[in-house]
Amino acid sequence: MDCDRTRSDPKEFLCPEAPGSSGATLKESTFALGGMSANLLKESGPREVFCGLTSIVWLHRRMPDAFFLVVGSRTCAHLIQSAAGVMIFAEPRFGTAILSERDLAGLADAQEELDRVARELLQRRPEIRTLFLVGSCPSEVIKLDLARAAERLNEELGGRVQVVNYSGSGIETTFTQGEDGALAALVPMLPTSDEKQLLLVGTLANAVEDRLITLFQRMGIATVRSLPPRQSTELPPVGEGTRVLLCQPFLGDTARRLRDRGATILAAPYPLGAEGSRLWMEAAALAWGVDPTTVSDILDPLMQRAQQALEPHRRRLAGQRIFLLPESQLEIPLARFLHRECGMELVEVGTPYLNRELMQAELDLLPDGTRVMEGQHVEQQLDRVRDSRPDLVVCGMGLANPLEAEGIATKWSIELVFSPIHGIDQAGELAELFSRPLQRHQLLHPTAP
Ligand code: SF4
Repeated sequence: MDCDRTRSDPKEFLCPEAPGSSGATLKESTFALGGMSANLLKESGPREVFCGLTSIVWLHRRMPDAFFLVVGSRTCAHLIQSAAGVMIFAEPRFGTAILSERDLAGLADAQEELDRVARELLQRRPEIRTLFLVGSCPSEVIKLDLARAAERLNEELGGRVQVVNYSGSGIETTFTQGEDGALAALVPMLPTSDEKQLLLVGTLANAVEDRLITLFQRMGIATVRSLPPRQSTELPPVGEGTRVLLCQPFLGDTARRLRDRGATILAAPYPLGAEGSRLWMEAAALAWGVDPTTVSDILDPLMQRAQQALEPHRRRLAGQRIFLLPESQLEIPLARFLHRECGMELVEVGTPYLNRELMQAELDLLPDGTRVMEGQHVEQQLDRVRDSRPDLVVCGMGLANPLEAEGIATKWSIELVFSPIHGIDQAGELAELFSRPLQRHQLLHPTAP
């Protein structure tokens, strides 16, 4: 990984009302960088997270010429239907090849069945350019080899449709890893080119992406491409000249595969909040040798506007205590934003997995002693939530209702991946996602402390 120095002094973004250490006492290891250190802890046990199939919801919107065929059970079909909604006016771009009891008992040749379903689908839907075969818990349990199925179908289709496979199973994975799996599966298909380019990796809302590309181009970074692309057939090239900015923190496998293809991953915080977004953009500016005055001329006015947009939310959030349960892998960048730019106190920051290399720049910005918990033991975490009585808990949908019933305000973490929250311009909207549930809670419980 490139260890590019960033140009802004991170201290300049600190909210004046940011409280200090959360006073964590349980220590497994301490990660110290730039004078700050987080207490990194680990736990394992029962988990309460969505599986990787959920990411199909945003991936199918991003690449309208792709189809996601889940090879799974009726449960998988129900999950994906209810998460993505039923498309009434358009042909859906996802579906489930349901494994029956005969398949699961090994009484039928599931490989043959899968080939038949895929063939029928592609005959009926000639506009599909890329077919993702998405593995699930049931297909993994019966060891259905989707890589072999993809290979067979690719041979048969002779390039008319590209078939790739990845796993969206909930066994030891969490929902954002579905995107990592899908993008990692695309990397071997990227053409090779050593042209100097900036590659933005991770799904962004199209309008947000357009805005970021315009800003990079104003800085003089002419060639900016994206993975995933907006059409699945327009895959960006990759090679020695590729500099990667990860838009999302959960793309470890994709980053590793891009690096194996010669790309350089630029070290930076993630583009959440004004501070993180600026540092993220500055990492690219530094790699391109852009004059710092040019960068300031472009970004300073945006930063001023972001401060104005943040102000009303900061008034509500400053001094409030937040507990982030592990689900989306966005928790550490969000905690950094909520503490440094909104003045919130971090009780505990959970994360399903911690890739220290990709999270280094974020850990560096957390306040001293922040309790960062990798993994999940849901019962123990709920006990800690109840003991600490935070003002706001970020958690999965399954935990939100019980906590609300106990008088604790919650925020669904899944909403954060469906909302356009990236970039300096979006800092106010991001803060609002946290100030709104607090406001609602105060209206519902006017006498609560
Ligand atoms: S992949 Fe696994 S966790 Fe996800 S819906 Fe299917 S059975 Fe459930």
